[in-house]
Amino acid sequence: MRFPIGFTLTQTRHRARMAKANRKRYPTVLMLEPLYTCNLACLGCSVERHTGKLKDRMTLSTCLKAVDDCEAPIVNICGGEPTLYPELKELVAGLIDRDKYIILCTNALLLDSKLYGVISPSSHLFLMIHLDGTRETHDFVCNRQGVFDKAIEMIHKGKELGYHIYLNTTVYKETKVEEVKALCQLVDELKANGILVAPGYEYESVESDLFLTKEQIHEKFQAIREFSNQYKLNATPMFMEFAAGLRELPCSPWSTVNYTPKGWKAPCYLIEGEGYFENWKDFWHQTDWAYWESRQDHRCQNCKMHSGFEHSAVEESMKTIKDQLQLAAWLLGK
Ligand code: SF4
Repeated sequence: MRFPIGFTLTQTRHRARMAKANRKRYPTVLMLEPLYTCNLACLGCSVERHTGKLKDRMTLSTCLKAVDDCEAPIVNICGGEPTLYPELKELVAGLIDRDKYIILCTNALLLDSKLYGVISPSSHLFLMIHLDGTRETHDFVCNRQGVFDKAIEMIHKGKELGYHIYLNTTVYKETKVEEVKALCQLVDELKANGILVAPGYEYESVESDLFLTKEQIHEKFQAIREFSNQYKLNATPMFMEFAAGLRELPCSPWSTVNYTPKGWKAPCYLIEGEGYFENWKDFWHQTDWAYWESRQDHRCQNCKMHSGFEHSAVEESMKTIKDQLQLAAWLLGK
């Protein structure tokens, strides 16, 4: 199976509950950013996400209130670097008590001191380790030598200890398709659980010329699709078709909501400058979702982010028997 059965069933039940309640829009993933402190300053990361002070982090109770308010079954803990969050152990425990699935997005540098031996492996905890290329590219994007080798060491160790480990690869201009294939092979060699390969987003606050235009994304993903079904990729085949320019989709920014030290961020975690809401209800009811779904904003033009479009890809695949069968085969495969 592509994912642990409980993870897939939780999403299926959530989708069925929302359909029964006649909810067209609803969150499935909360991107929780408890802190904007990081031990790296990667070239593709927005400046505010790695320059925050630890003292400005969210309290544990604020994190858990956001989780309860939005009711998403999956909580993606990111940041900043979440292993630097002093209350991480209590946060993970609070989420598991609530029967949430946790995806902990990390650069892996501090896993041995902050997580292994501190937070036990769980069927509800997935470590998502960023690896944006093979050694040379990843260390270039991370702006530091040795980050790739440390991440590999941590994946080895984490698998020995029994953690679920996935890789997350953002495709930039510098990323070669052969490198993506090498990372997919590495997932098999390391016996990791899977890999998410998705295009990067062109943040206005990032000056580097790292990002791809829509046409460049299509070209890279057409090549990646050719080998993608041989490996444990996390993105659905429908999303991969969209990334390759073979299928059009509306955006579903409400499917992956973002809570930050400044509040609920509208409309999605990528766009700067549209504002933050203190209160969940104001965020949910005052954001003009129809506008953002239409992708007419200039900041949406080159966006093919997994967080915005995977929900749409799954929704779209429910419309034909052929797509439903393809999705089922993909879920049962690898
Ligand atoms: S298209 Fe991208 S940038 Fe625009 S709302 Fe959707 S996720 Fe955000």
